[in-house]
Amino acid sequence: MSDAEAKSKPHRLKPVLLGKNMVIDCHGHYTSEPAALLEYRKQQVAALNDPSKAPGELRISDDEIREKLEPAQLKFQRERGTDIAIFSPRASAMGHHVGNEATSVAWSRICNDMIHRVCNLYPRNFIGVCQLPQSPGVPPGNCIPELERCVNELGFVGCNLNPDPSGGYWKEPPLTDRWWYPLYEKMVDLDVPAMVHVTATCNPAFHTTGSHYLNADTTAFMQFLTSDLFKDFPSLKFVIPHGGGAVPFHWGRYRGMAQDMKRPPIKELLLNNVYFDTCVYHQPGIDLLAKVIPADNILFASEMVGAVKGIDPETGHYFDDTKRYIDGVSWLNAEDKRKIFEGNAMKVYPRLGKQISRQADAARA
Ligand SMILES: [Zn+2]
Repeated sequence: MSDAEAKSKPHRLKPVLLGKNMVIDCHGHYTSEPAALLEYRKQQVAALNDPSKAPGELRISDDEIREKLEPAQLKFQRERGTDIAIFSPRASAMGHHVGNEATSVAWSRICNDMIHRVCNLYPRNFIGVCQLPQSPGVPPGNCIPELERCVNELGFVGCNLNPDPSGGYWKEPPLTDRWWYPLYEKMVDLDVPAMVHVTATCNPAFHTTGSHYLNADTTAFMQFLTSDLFKDFPSLKFVIPHGGGAVPFHWGRYRGMAQDMKRPPIKELLLNNVYFDTCVYHQPGIDLLAKVIPADNILFASEMVGAVKGIDPETGHYFDDTKRYIDGVSWLNAEDKRKIFEGNAMKVYPRLGKQISRQADAARA
């Protein structure tokens, strides 16, 4: 088997993990951080204007991590019957627009190291995805050392890529511009996908999770549609979160625009490279997603805990209990559901299967 074939072949799980279809949540953030981490960030930001406020060494015990995670992500995983979360630092706290490149490098390393600690403490529950040390106007290729560190040394399987490090002012070239290519070359080389994920907005016109996130999802899709990015990078993969923003709802518009622009059909143009998650917090939204987007391109996700925390009074269940909605789509057959819950994640994150096995071994040791 050639290297290329070996790379494209999804990893087969060890027998110990077979026999049970896993439910892999591809979109979880570390939103139950110990207070010391948030305090550290506050001091780091304060030190931008007053160096005397620079934080000292970050000290967080394993017990502090456990105390916050147990009643949050872990409790919900157990209650809802999900097995593993692909886990990254809190997205709204990435704050790429804060300070400069050095600020972002230091903060990203700390956040990624925290994810690594969580994965070591709960090797059966979490697999790491990294925050990239992006900064406005700084070439994305500068993120390569941190991406390599996270993948090669910490066992992470992907990254979150922010198309708008300016925090709501959209000053960077589109994701399809050659500006981004050095990073894409490294992603392909490492065999890791990116989730397109902005951070908090500093533009008061946008609400971070209510509009900025969904705008970015929709914007990234339209950028992909109008480019030949995937001719240049046939194996590059992106997950567009939050159900793909407005995309599935407007699928006819996008198909029609592709046709008007003499682009190939979307299926041919994008669906070997672009995937959608299920962070859509109601049944009709998931019904539409599952009707419009092929099951091969949908990855189960909940983005719990954080984006929407409450219980839906119309159903009596948590809005972000998204497994329930997939279970509720009557026309998806068992094989489609297996793909959404497990198979597609294995395909999109080629390092995932091996990392699950590796962490399961570590848990047994
Ligand atoms: Zn997210």
